[in-house]
Amino acid sequence: MKLLFERSRPGRQECLIPACDVPAASFSPSVLRASAPRLPEISEIDLGRHYTELALQTHGVNKGFYPLGSCTMKYNPRINEEMAALPGFADIHPLQPAESAQGCLEVLFDAERLLCEITGMDGMTFQPAAGAHGEYTGLLLIRHYHQSRGDAARTKIIVPDSAHGTNPASATMAGFTVVSVPSNEKGGVDLEALRKAVGPDTAGLMLTNPNTLGLFDENILEITRIIHEAGGLCYYDGANLNAVMGHARPGDMGFDCVHLNLHKTFSTPHGGGGPGSGPVGCKAFLEPFLPSPRVCRKEDGSFGFATPEHTMGRVRSFYGNFLVVVRALTYILTLGRKGIPEASAMAVLNANYLMKKLSGHYDMAYDTLCMHEFVMTLEKLKNETGVSAMDVAKSLLDYGIHPPTMYFPLIVHEALMVEPTETESPETLDNAAEALLAILDKAKTDPAYLHGAPHRCPIGRPDEVRAARTPVLRYDFETAKEE
Ligand SMILES: *Cc1c(COP(=O)(O)O)cnc(C)c1O
Repeated sequence: MKLLFERSRPGRQECLIPACDVPAASFSPSVLRASAPRLPEISEIDLGRHYTELALQTHGVNKGFYPLGSCTMKYNPRINEEMAALPGFADIHPLQPAESAQGCLEVLFDAERLLCEITGMDGMTFQPAAGAHGEYTGLLLIRHYHQSRGDAARTKIIVPDSAHGTNPASATMAGFTVVSVPSNEKGGVDLEALRKAVGPDTAGLMLTNPNTLGLFDENILEITRIIHEAGGLCYYDGANLNAVMGHARPGDMGFDCVHLNLHKTFSTPHGGGGPGSGPVGCKAFLEPFLPSPRVCRKEDGSFGFATPEHTMGRVRSFYGNFLVVVRALTYILTLGRKGIPEASAMAVLNANYLMKKLSGHYDMAYDTLCMHEFVMTLEKLKNETGVSAMDVAKSLLDYGIHPPTMYFPLIVHEALMVEPTETESPETLDNAAEALLAILDKAKTDPAYLHGAPHRCPIGRPDEVRAARTPVLRYDFETAKEE
């Protein structure tokens, strides 16, 4: 499709500016640019068509099913957007005095209180801008805690091999050495291996739960006990709280800190790299180390800021992505005490419903009830027909369905990780199951067709490495082509 610069024609415009009725001001040449900016000149209708065409080529939850595992591409209720667009929230300035932004501080205060209740924590920071940033902040809490006790020997973080990929990366970024622990035959943490891995150098454990296999670790209490007995702290990767909110709390399972992905579980649109929020909650004994400032309620009932006694400082400018918190608070308040656990229950039901429809046809990595997502392994299919997980994923695009997460978790070969979410109807799930079964039939009769999929999308199979490493982001006017 043509770029805006290619559609541009001199003199076209999409607005009518009235004649100037004030004296023209003049500026010193030192602040004027030497040549006019090369902005595209285009009429309103062509501009509208350009963006509509772009939107039609994009897949999103508003267009079709989006079962991207570990990403919780649920529907985001419109009321969240309406609240986030209220001028009192959208038009504030982060340097405004606290007295003039009381409503915003109350949002942060209330959201902290409710999310602490949901996670079983005592305090929370909203500074981290995403999940991995939250992990990093939580690990700094652990480091500051050990340092405050003069315990410099605790340099290792234990990460099970079923953890999200960001966990070992964040632990390394936070200055720890990562110790990997294998999974047992049921997909949980191998307790014997865990017992062998802990010692006086253990700073803590990072557990993704439900893990990337979509399973809730049945030994979770024993896991946190082993870590605590060794003197370490327990970190809960709660990015996927969608499966457990309102049913089980990390704080009750023995975890000392946790991060949430508001842009997954608590319903903020994501996927296009938009603003996220990865708040970190902790137990009271870690609160003194939380990032500064924190919102507090003063004796007269008004809201202000406080600096935690041994704060790690800032991990981000100002107060994090505030409007994401507004959406999360709206979501929690509209669902309420009854709706929050119901959403989780539906997410788990939908995942199990779809898994059941497919099992017997597709191989499941673990043949047991799942939480909010399940993982298929297409190893046998690939050996028998040559059709890979990638081929199946690409074929789904021809059915108007976004592919599941591919080749993750790494411990499952030819993996497809499917997360339907609670906001999908039985009809949508039936339709997806039919598409996957049709693809399976095709794999047996015409594998070459699937190797070439998708056949009905704007583009087929781009060179994904080149697209990621050398993205074309600028228009080259000299050669009038993309550079
Ligand atoms: C998505 C996810 C993360 C990372 O969150 P980002 O916001 O992408 O940084 C971490 N852990 C788990 C389990 C996740 O699903």
